[in-house]
Amino acid sequence: MSRVYNFSAGPAVLPEEVLREAAAEMLDYNGTGMSVMEMSHRSSAFAEIIENAEYDIRDLLSIPDNYRVLFLQGGASQQFAMIPMNLMKNRVADFIITGQWAKKAYSEAKLYGTANAVASSADKTFSYIPDCSDLPISENADYVYICENNTIYGTKFHTLPNTKGKDLVADVSSCFLSEPMDISKYALVYGGVQKNVGPAGTVIVIIRDDLITEDVLPGTPTMLRYKTHADAKSLYNTPPAYGIYICGKVFKWLKSRGGLEAMKEYNEKKAAILYDFLDNNNMFRGTVVPADRSIMNVPFVTGSEELDAKFVKEASAAGFVNLKGHRTVGGMRASIYNAMPIEGVQKLVEFMAKFEAENR
Ligand SMILES: *Cc1c(COP(=O)(O)O)cnc(C)c1O
Repeated sequence: MSRVYNFSAGPAVLPEEVLREAAAEMLDYNGTGMSVMEMSHRSSAFAEIIENAEYDIRDLLSIPDNYRVLFLQGGASQQFAMIPMNLMKNRVADFIITGQWAKKAYSEAKLYGTANAVASSADKTFSYIPDCSDLPISENADYVYICENNTIYGTKFHTLPNTKGKDLVADVSSCFLSEPMDISKYALVYGGVQKNVGPAGTVIVIIRDDLITEDVLPGTPTMLRYKTHADAKSLYNTPPAYGIYICGKVFKWLKSRGGLEAMKEYNEKKAAILYDFLDNNNMFRGTVVPADRSIMNVPFVTGSEELDAKFVKEASAAGFVNLKGHRTVGGMRASIYNAMPIEGVQKLVEFMAKFEAENR
């Protein structure tokens, strides 16, 4: 068996310890004689799995008591519709457009009401976060929406926007559990887990409980109402059981590593190794305004498409895989999520230096 350094943006690298544990429990989970994939979601064994998962994520993020944690399906993209269906009481929402994922959420919200783009960084290929200290927030906006970490472009909101008292909704898919966050500053936070937390198929929604009401847009399907899932404790129908089980293991792994403060420190250290190299060599450069850099997704280019392609190919052959950038940015992107060990980043940088020397 040989594991590669997987820099994929998602689905992405998971902690090896978690994968080994899951493998060991594959045929017989905790004396049940069956896999978690095979057990009833109403069984006591599964009840313990989902209850522990909720306990641990609450603990990790210090989630206040007036917020509910929901384990849902449909990926992050289903939230693009579910959020307006449930929260757009006045049928108005404001969006800050910092990339493809924010744009998709914005377009979807237009199906349900008036979606206003109150700021955008499209003018410079989303390479920065706009100044959000004094935006023209709509008087009757139900919420202000951001994509907090832009997976494709490698930017992150290091300061939350001034929403002028309006509820803030954030897609945190690609920075979820990479550092502590103050949940009380948000009305709703959600993340597709396949970026930094678990296997595709599960999305975690953290929502303030006053927003969980019967007052949703007409025609909202039962399955797309937050209240349905909150009332049933995420067991209205068969939940993404195996995904929740793996997420639970990742939560335990994060706690064993010292929690989110420690993860933040580790992630910053990893990102600094890569950014320092990008800032100090003569072949590669980052594509993002330094102040807005993400510590999870790091896009970079050589300036030559030919050289980019050569680098991606040779890196892959050397065991550094999935470094090709998104087609709208070109070049390369290294996603260095929680489970990417620091050695992976160090060795990548050594490889880049070697490539530079050989291709000068
Ligand atoms: C990947 C991603 C999505 C889409 O996730 P799906 O689960 O495939 O729908 C949405 N937002 C962000 C920030 C992402 O990185």
